[in-house]
Amino acid sequence: MKLSKMHLKTLREVPNEAEIASHILLVRTGMIKKLVSGVYGFMPLGWRSIRKIEEIIRQEMDAKGAQEIHMSAVQPAELWMESGRWFKYGPELWRLKDRNGRDFCLGPTHEEIFTDIVRNDVNSYRQLPLNLYQIQTKYRDEARPRFGLMRSREFIMKDSYSFDKTYEDLDKSYDDMYDAYEKVFTRCGLTFRPVEADTGAIGGSNSHEFTALSEVGESEIAYCEKCNMAATTEKALCVDAAASKAAELPLEEVHTPGTKTIEEVSAFLNMDQTQTLKALLFVTYDDNGNDNGYVAAFVRGDRELNMIKLVNALNIPEHAIGFADEAKMSEATGCVGGFTGPVGLHDCKIVVDSEIPGLKNLCAGACKADYHLKNVNYGRDYSADIVADIKMLKAGDPCPVCGAPVKHARGIEVGQVFKLGTKYSESMGAYYKDENQKDQLIVMGCYGIGVTRTLAAIVEQHHDENGIIWPVSVAPYHVIITLLSPEDEIQARIAEDIYRQLASAGVEVLLDDRKERPGVKFKDADLIGIPVRITVGRGAAEGKVEYKLRRESDKEEISPEEAIAKAI
Ligand code: ATP
Ligand code: MG
Ligand code: MG
Ligand code: MG
Repeated sequence: MKLSKMHLKTLREVPNEAEIASHILLVRTGMIKKLVSGVYGFMPLGWRSIRKIEEIIRQEMDAKGAQEIHMSAVQPAELWMESGRWFKYGPELWRLKDRNGRDFCLGPTHEEIFTDIVRNDVNSYRQLPLNLYQIQTKYRDEARPRFGLMRSREFIMKDSYSFDKTYEDLDKSYDDMYDAYEKVFTRCGLTFRPVEADTGAIGGSNSHEFTALSEVGESEIAYCEKCNMAATTEKALCVDAAASKAAELPLEEVHTPGTKTIEEVSAFLNMDQTQTLKALLFVTYDDNGNDNGYVAAFVRGDRELNMIKLVNALNIPEHAIGFADEAKMSEATGCVGGFTGPVGLHDCKIVVDSEIPGLKNLCAGACKADYHLKNVNYGRDYSADIVADIKMLKAGDPCPVCGAPVKHARGIEVGQVFKLGTKYSESMGAYYKDENQKDQLIVMGCYGIGVTRTLAAIVEQHHDENGIIWPVSVAPYHVIITLLSPEDEIQARIAEDIYRQLASAGVEVLLDDRKERPGVKFKDADLIGIPVRITVGRGAAEGKVEYKLRRESDKEEISPEEAIAKAI
């Protein structure tokens, strides 16, 4: 490509709102263009790098036997109602109506869509395992879109979904994806760490985040160089709670009178209400004492609890959440806010949770008379991510696994893998028939890579004060030939010759033949970060060109032939 013909507009000025290097540089190089807040377009150079990242992802996904499909970003609300997420996703879900008033959303992720495909198309165990993926535009109406591609409202994601017969098969699918992700991010030139992560709004049981290390990242991770523990700081705390089992006392039944208010429960637990008691969790029971699958949560005053985390905490199927009778429950318990299942207050079991580190030996009990359990413990009697985001593990804190002081780092979440289990197959009815013609739930996993965020993360890790320094694998072009005086016949001929030979050898090459001052050309070449620069200037008459790598300061005077050989 000749720069004189290319649609390229670099900027000398730094846009006001751009605070971090990747945002500033992607805008200054003209690789991305903002349309409105959190919505960007890609110009030729930017789009080439995006396509390279996509291609790396495709190769690694295909190598694992995953199959690419392409679904619409527009999703009917009905599917989201089936999974229960239509009511829970909140304002990040970009909702819209068609002319007949039918509800839709622009997909922030595609679990419902892929589950729907598979429940319709897969009948037999013979059709499993299956792993489907797409590279597609996602929409999230983020509260604070910022940092350019890092947190945008429209972005490109590779999302894949695995469908297996058993949990053991899921483990294999998960490991395959984990391995593919390590390969993808390595090939993209990123320094990253896979860390254990919270499962968040997607739900599920097991998860890793792939974190590209960077001071501007919004993920905080704790890791231990002694035992290799690595987790988001939220997750590390949960590990901590689970690891402290030694302190637990045996579960004990106690009898207490009548319905309790949150204050009474606090008093019963001998807790300072204002500081420690955070929430009441109710798992409701039917008349026979069986957990009927409804859960209710009440949160004191100002602090909002993440309902999804509460639900995960008790491993309750999410479709069991209802919104009935809230006022009545609030009245009865003296708590504010919250949710309740349709059965209201009958025979509730209460799990009282306190802030970390007070997770040990809690009380779980009935709102009605005569049933409490003492010494309820996280990990043994229930599993909870409830308090995870309240306090962060700090550098130097003891490692939750081995006790050595942990290190702390910031990073950019470029990908995440989840074991979903049967969360979606259960709520949406995705079954296969086993060898005995019996219906079995399909076991699922889901796996995401932020393609556009990965581009930003690469720039964040690969730049200097003059511009981007692309790793070859994702560089928009490999070589730039800087022709200093296009009107000089010898220079023009040699530059053109190098250009043709490199192009025919399959090297992606730019020829800067613009009528600009040399200073402008050098600045632009550094700014857009092409890995190899071959400068054709005065030395051309003596058969010499200058060969320079973007990431190094040394230059070499060599013959055009040598330069070509080196660049191929
Ligand atoms: P974050 O914690 O940064 O909000 P997330 O955990 O909500 O991200 P996932 O649901 O795990 O994101 O989506 C998979 C991947 O999509 C993320 O790992 C990230 O790379 C990318 N991604 C998510 N949200 C955005 C966004 N607003 N802009 C760009 N990329 C995003
Ligand atoms: Mg998010
Ligand atoms: Mg996240
Ligand atoms: Mg995530």
